Amino acid sequence: MKTLVCPHCNTQVPETASVCTGCGAEVVRGLSRGGRSLVGLLCVGVAVVIAGIMLRVLEMHKAGLHCRRRNRNTGRM
Ligand SMILES: [Zn+2]
Repeated sequence: MKTLVCPHCNTQVPETASVCTGCGAEVVRGLSRGGRSLVGLLCVGVAVVIAGIMLRVLEMHKAGLHCRRRNRNTGRM
């Protein structure tokens, strides 16, 4: 019988099983290990890009507030 290796616990799971016998994780067919890690990398990449954009927006927002405060202070003085 052909077996698959669970990516979560590395337990050999029969190809006919829909759930890992080791950790109970759902066995996803159709994607090889490499394909799965590629999808995982893509997800991580997208998350990193989104986090970077959010950080930049936050920094720009903070910088804008600082500039406004400085302008107000210099205006008063
Ligand atoms: Zn497992």
